Amino acid sequence: AAVAAVVVARRRGKGTKWGKVREILTEIEKKCATPVARLRQVADAMAVEMHAGLASDGGSKLKMLLSYVDNLPTGDENGVFYALDLGGTNFRVLRVLLGGKEGRVTKQEYEEVSIPPHLMLGGSNELFDFIAAALARFVNTEGDEFRIPEGRQRELGFTFSFPVKQLSLASGTLIKWTKGFCIEDTVGQDVVVELTKAMERQGLNMRVTALVNDTVGTLAGGRYEDNDVLVAVILGTGTNAAYVERANAIPKWHGLLPKSGDMVINMEWGNFKSSLLPITEYDETLDFESLNPGEQIYEKLISGMYLGEIVRRILLRMAQESSLFGEVVPQKLEIPFILRTPHMSAMHHDSSPDLKIVANKLKDILGIHSTSLKTKRLVVNICDIVAKRGARLAAAGIYGILKKLGRDTLSLPKQRTVVAMDGGLYEHYSIFSECLNNTLNDLLGEEVASTVVIKLANDGSGVGAALLAASHSQYLER
Ligand code: BGC
Ligand code: MG
Repeated sequence: AAVAAVVVARRRGKGTKWGKVREILTEIEKKCATPVARLRQVADAMAVEMHAGLASDGGSKLKMLLSYVDNLPTGDENGVFYALDLGGTNFRVLRVLLGGKEGRVTKQEYEEVSIPPHLMLGGSNELFDFIAAALARFVNTEGDEFRIPEGRQRELGFTFSFPVKQLSLASGTLIKWTKGFCIEDTVGQDVVVELTKAMERQGLNMRVTALVNDTVGTLAGGRYEDNDVLVAVILGTGTNAAYVERANAIPKWHGLLPKSGDMVINMEWGNFKSSLLPITEYDETLDFESLNPGEQIYEKLISGMYLGEIVRRILLRMAQESSLFGEVVPQKLEIPFILRTPHMSAMHHDSSPDLKIVANKLKDILGIHSTSLKTKRLVVNICDIVAKRGARLAAAGIYGILKKLGRDTLSLPKQRTVVAMDGGLYEHYSIFSECLNNTLNDLLGEEVASTVVIKLANDGSGVGAALLAASHSQYLER
């Protein structure tokens, strides 16, 4: 009878070996720890790599890519411009009517299209044809207020959120894909040429006048709104940062010194790697089994594509080794990327006393039924560890940039430094963004922290690309 009782209990998931759970959890807590002293070291390492990446191509894991943007929007931009934003799981097409100093962004229209997953792993032409077709459909809905003068070509700012070696503001070759894209035949190609050919196949007469990373677009869009924007950070599906560097602090830049003396640098910080990073066995296997092993290590600790997946891997191990969800390991828990960061965020923010949302997500997403309160609390705890590690590391990265810029101390009276921020992770995962802000404040200290502002630039990268297309229009008198 006693044996039968145990069997029944196990089937109901009551046979969890809590000792083993605690052992695994303690190890994760230890390995994921990010004490302030460690974050300061990470920030210093980031600043060191920034210098190295600026010194020479291939000098660092940080590519520190030249954007050829040496002038940020002033507010004088005017006319009708298109933009196309390709980055994560969606892409957007938009058109803006810029009204110059007085009018600003007079009118704006956009459309969002989700990218069919098979196109992220297929051929180059298929992806670009799909994009160009959506763009052509969007152009067809152009109203009179967006008409451009007779005889002119429409102009486009292309936000392409992957590492690109720019050859000029309006051309650049793809270094590698990230974030779940893997299309071999695009690597090494000029993505502007690829897009232009696809537009021609659609019979669309449009010219790309600016090719920008989303961080650079966000920086441009942010500067248009606020003159003190010096840095842009994306925390979404992927993560990255761009900032305004002095051109004479870029040894690898051999071109003419721009009039402004400045150049925007796309850091590609997602590829940062250091023995200082708190890495667990879950991160190692995630990386190993990913589309880009050994690459984007910092991104895999921080960004939205990966946080939920890390949590899934931890839960799977607990299910396997300590029967966390009963005798049998729930099948769905074995499916990579099934637990997405928005699900994780929903569970993490559950404030109901019986953790109803956690129960529902476990049931709906993972097919796990009737979990105990203790188990649900454990799940929240794991979300907390993984999210806060990511948020604190992102804060350390921002602090590293501020150090490089000398904005970690007060050198000027009334100095203000604004970081333009975009991305769904930061926007929607409030425990993550609060933790990031608190950590950055701790690192900066109260006095300096009061001069640094993180400003949510909601989808600024598209408008930013349109602004850069405008300031580099072929019709401008120079
Ligand atoms: C890409 C960056 C991009 C970032 C945010 C990363 O995976 O390498 O170019 O800026 O994601 O979208
Ligand atoms: Mg984006």
